[in-house]
Amino acid sequence: MRFSGFRVLKEGLTGNKGWTPHWRDPDPKPEYDVVIIGGGGHGLSTAYYLAKEHGLTNIAVLEKGYIGGGNVGRNTTIVRANYFLDGNSEFYSHSLKLWEGLEQDLNYNVMHSQRGLINLFHSDGQRDAFARRGNAMINQGDDAVLLDRAGVEKILPYLDFDNGRFPIYGGLYHPRGGTARHDAVAWGYARGADQRGVDLLQNCEVTGIDIEGGVVNGVQTTRGAIRARKVAMVVAGRSSQVAAMAGMRVPVESHVLQAFVTEGLKPVIDHVISFGMGHFYISQSDKGGLVFGGDIDMYASYAARGNLPIVEHVMEAGMTLMPMIGKAKVLRSWGGIMDMTPDGSPVIDKTHIDGLYLNCGWNYGGFKAVPASGNCFAHLIAQDRYHPEATGFQLDRFRTGYGVIDEEGTGAQHNLH
Ligand SMILES: Cc1cc2nc3c(=O)[nH]c(=O)nc-3n(C[C@H](O)[C@H](O)[C@H](O)COP(=O)(O)OP(=O)(O)OC[C@H]3O[C@@H](n4cnc5c(N)ncnc54)[C@H](O)[C@@H]3O)c2cc1C
Repeated sequence: MRFSGFRVLKEGLTGNKGWTPHWRDPDPKPEYDVVIIGGGGHGLSTAYYLAKEHGLTNIAVLEKGYIGGGNVGRNTTIVRANYFLDGNSEFYSHSLKLWEGLEQDLNYNVMHSQRGLINLFHSDGQRDAFARRGNAMINQGDDAVLLDRAGVEKILPYLDFDNGRFPIYGGLYHPRGGTARHDAVAWGYARGADQRGVDLLQNCEVTGIDIEGGVVNGVQTTRGAIRARKVAMVVAGRSSQVAAMAGMRVPVESHVLQAFVTEGLKPVIDHVISFGMGHFYISQSDKGGLVFGGDIDMYASYAARGNLPIVEHVMEAGMTLMPMIGKAKVLRSWGGIMDMTPDGSPVIDKTHIDGLYLNCGWNYGGFKAVPASGNCFAHLIAQDRYHPEATGFQLDRFRTGYGVIDEEGTGAQHNLH
């Protein structure tokens, strides 16, 4: 089933009877070439690119819940390529290019909207840091414009520019940044993978990883044992638990991150705005809700919901930046489990066990990475060689201390990234 304007019109006129399910609901086969643990954005995109670019179709994605129920369906949907350090910057640049062709590639409307992202600065020092970051982005081939206060005022007139503590000096504008509809991304990749023969097995929790003589040969699941030549762990916030099934201790701490959405409002915020001093970011969804978030809850947890101090902090930051937000009513809030690494950058690597691969450490920025992560991880799994845009994400950097990609400059503390 292909989507097109003609198809929508035809179905609309004929009672919408021709739509079919987006993916099959198969039973597990006893054996696959590749088993991917985790049906989030990264697991699904890995399966999709394995099938599309490497011709591997005897693949299963094992998801303990339902497709899109993890972080991929819980984020604030910001997509950007404004990273500074080598290792990150070429990877996120690669990802943004994939985003720009994603809807055509998947034949699926993921509502990718390049409405522009503005990171505000509030001191001369911050302006210098953003000027440097902007130059790095331009050198990488991406786009960045340094706006002074008048430049920001022109596009975002409703901000409080003269706040006593955080007066707005200007902003770094990234016009190609924006948002995408998060669960549509999961559904689009799921559908694309399924169409190429990948089995998506929901309600299939992996409970053990079978290893013999240093070689992986399958997994134990709640739907029975499944043999596999290669196994990929792509479970975001559950990475430590799943890696422990293979006897591995990974440098990941799981922390809660919350997000909030207001009632639907008329269009008011037509960019993504990020307020570094208060750690607050906001955009408006196509349904009209203001979607916003802030920092993680700052304690390790596997609960997919947070606590009130951060709720208060995020609301305060919002009111500080744009007092008008106080009139909006918050409809819902929720949390997701973040896989935080000591340098704030991810892992896309093989492990010391033959045939076992690891993709994790997305901190709270892994949604924008979904296309490149799957693309580069599929390359690694299929060819046992690193993709040229993802050579910096090796696990060993945390053991040796060489090659850490500390984008935030906050050192080796998980909850500070
Ligand atoms: C509130 C919030 C806001 C965010 N905002 C942004 C943002 O604006 N921009 C951005 O780029 N990123 C953002 N992120 C981060 C981003 O959502 C994540 O980094 C990314 O989605 C993680 O990768 P994933 O999609 O594969 O994870 P998930 O969707 O969590 O996928 C992992 C899957 O593994 C499954 N699983 C776990 N254990 C097992 C098992 N034993 N067996 C089988 N399956 C298992 C889980 O059920 C889950 O579905 C945000 C996250 C949150 C929570």
